[in-house]
Amino acid sequence: MNEDPELLINDQWIVSRRGNKNPVDLQRPYGWLVEKERTISGKIEDTGIIFLTNRECPFHCLMCDLWKNTTDESVAIGSIPNQIEWALEQMPAVKHLKLYNNGSFFDGRAVPEEDYKSIASLVKDFETVIVESHPRLINEKCLNFRNMLKPDLHVAIGLETVHPWILLKLNKQMTLDDFSNSVSYLTKNGISSRAFILLRPPLLSESEGIFWAERSIDFAFSAGIECCIIIPVRAGNGAMDELMEKGYFSLPDIQSLETVLEYGIGLKAGRVFADVWDLAQFSSCKKCIDKRTDRLVSMNLNQIILKPVEYTCNH
Ligand code: SF4
Ligand SMILES: [Zn+2]
Repeated sequence: MNEDPELLINDQWIVSRRGNKNPVDLQRPYGWLVEKERTISGKIEDTGIIFLTNRECPFHCLMCDLWKNTTDESVAIGSIPNQIEWALEQMPAVKHLKLYNNGSFFDGRAVPEEDYKSIASLVKDFETVIVESHPRLINEKCLNFRNMLKPDLHVAIGLETVHPWILLKLNKQMTLDDFSNSVSYLTKNGISSRAFILLRPPLLSESEGIFWAERSIDFAFSAGIECCIIIPVRAGNGAMDELMEKGYFSLPDIQSLETVLEYGIGLKAGRVFADVWDLAQFSSCKKCIDKRTDRLVSMNLNQIILKPVEYTCNH
């Protein structure tokens, strides 16, 4: 591992490497989509995702590019419910809904607490509502929102990695105890949680990337997490591109994602998904990428380890 003491990664260094934000409309989500997901009960069902436009996350994690579609200031009360209402009008009927806000749903400067009631009313017909949050922002606000909700509330939390030194370098401002305590708090209150886990954060070799993603899955399940999502680390936010140029970061290989997904599913400790967005960048071979992606999607949905596809490209 490359542990260059000169590599000073902090808020200022990370933010100074950013490009411009994208223009956003405060009354519209910046995106929405519907995707299939295997539910806790084992059914494969459509899940809607609304990407809410709101104030930027107060944390500045090294690998994060979610700031690109955020505002500098808080949005007005009523803006988030308007965005949800608009997206639900566009979306086909689905049973499960992710409200992702590029930060923490329980950050009062991102989603005003005054809006919780209207949001709860808009989503009352769903079976499940999934929001995301930094562990340090999971507190009684989460229970207040849950108490207004008819659907089951699930919370997605970034664990990122259990490698102690890398977790520090990611500037997540979180300890593993913060993570475990949040998961215990949610579990104690009957709220399911899912963890985002990074595959090959900076400063790790390919094999170290696999090893630490697998240890992170172990840790997440032992903390009480119900579902793990493995995210191959990407560049594109300025800071990561600079690390890549200087040799501190390389994109993980799609085969490592396959290895870690197989490991996670094999544990049978809960659902494990691979993030399959734009996987072509993790493969140097155009011949097998579609087959590899199809296999990962099928493993996500069925939670079984499928036989590797016979590849004519031999790698
Ligand atoms: S806490 Fe999440 S949204 Fe905020 S900077 Fe870190 S990764 Fe990005
Ligand atoms: Zn190939």
